[in-house]
Amino acid sequence: MKNTPPTLNNKPEDGFQSLSPAVWRASTVLFDNIADFTTRKERLFDGYTYGIMGTPTTRMLEKRIAQLEGASHCIVTPSGQSALCQVALALLGAGDHVLIADSAYGPLRSFASDYLQRFGVACETFDPSAGAELAERFRPNTKLIFLESPGSLTMEMQDLPAIVRAARAAGITTVLDNSWASPLGLQGVPMGIDIVVEAASKLFGGHSDLLLGSIATDNRSLYEKLRTAQSVLGQVVGPDDCFLVLRGLDTLALRYAHQCASALAVAERLANNPHVERVMFPPRPGDEGHARWAASFQGGGCVLSFVPRLPSEAQVHQFFDALQVFRIGASWGGVHSLAGYYPEAEQARRAYCRVTQGIVRLAIGAEGAELLAADVEQALRSAAG
Ligand SMILES: *Cc1c(COP(=O)(O)O)cnc(C)c1O
Repeated sequence: MKNTPPTLNNKPEDGFQSLSPAVWRASTVLFDNIADFTTRKERLFDGYTYGIMGTPTTRMLEKRIAQLEGASHCIVTPSGQSALCQVALALLGAGDHVLIADSAYGPLRSFASDYLQRFGVACETFDPSAGAELAERFRPNTKLIFLESPGSLTMEMQDLPAIVRAARAAGITTVLDNSWASPLGLQGVPMGIDIVVEAASKLFGGHSDLLLGSIATDNRSLYEKLRTAQSVLGQVVGPDDCFLVLRGLDTLALRYAHQCASALAVAERLANNPHVERVMFPPRPGDEGHARWAASFQGGGCVLSFVPRLPSEAQVHQFFDALQVFRIGASWGGVHSLAGYYPEAEQARRAYCRVTQGIVRLAIGAEGAELLAADVEQALRSAAG
């Protein structure tokens, strides 16, 4: 059998143009001469050195997200959770102290308590409605503050501008998980937050079929530490997933506007429902966090929470069984609406939680507000009996 020589010129042929980005696969990156090869590490931050640090498809997505965030640098990671962990691993060491919003994404809190603590990092949670008074919790060794506003599930709003000012004055790096709002709702980097993380699996991808995360910053030295960590930890994202997120971003603004408007309409309807005890959704006037949301955000989110007035767990189960449009599942940001339940035991585990009851979380998709509101209403009626 004769060997076919491999094709080495993989540049697109002249005369071809397309609206869709090329999917470049590579483990090996080629160099023109041995001098370029031996000095390849010098291009770790701005060029191409090895497949782990990405191909032109990865870079295209990173540039696009950086632009959306109003940031100069972006690194994509295999998931939103891996982005959060990578920030911690890149910037923290034994002896450091970290503050984490008590309503931050659950797996981040687990990573802190089960892993970072084991490696000698002191981790503490703080009241997720905190403002400038968070400075009272700063220690000389406080290195990082993990913010998430509104918080996962219970939707508390932090006073981000006040916390950013206090952290800046104390030389503490701020990290914001901005997945709920996306940069269309809040650009954290221009408002002074050092690092903004997104679960691109949610709104960016937009179709519940991929996992990806992003880390954006304006700070070159932080970028270099984060890129080095990405490379050393081997946190690679496949080019097909980058392609899918690039495609998702083409329709992000349309989906976002539609889904956020539907979420607000559903929240209003639930707030007036006799079988609902409280609705947690800061874009709704009347929500505890509404003033802070209105002061800093340009858009809402498509995830909301509520406490049903259903006295027994059996009735809660009936509610979920009666849903016809909403499907039961975690995650959000896709075109299909989802519902999940977080029993009271989950809230009881938290140190600063304003809700003690079980919480229903709704992820609003693209089906249309009237259909969705009517679905929740009929399921509540059916469960309440
Ligand atoms: C889903 C989510 C994440 C994690 O994203 P994955 O890509 O699923 O790992 C992080 N933060 C928030 C607020 C999320 O909702």
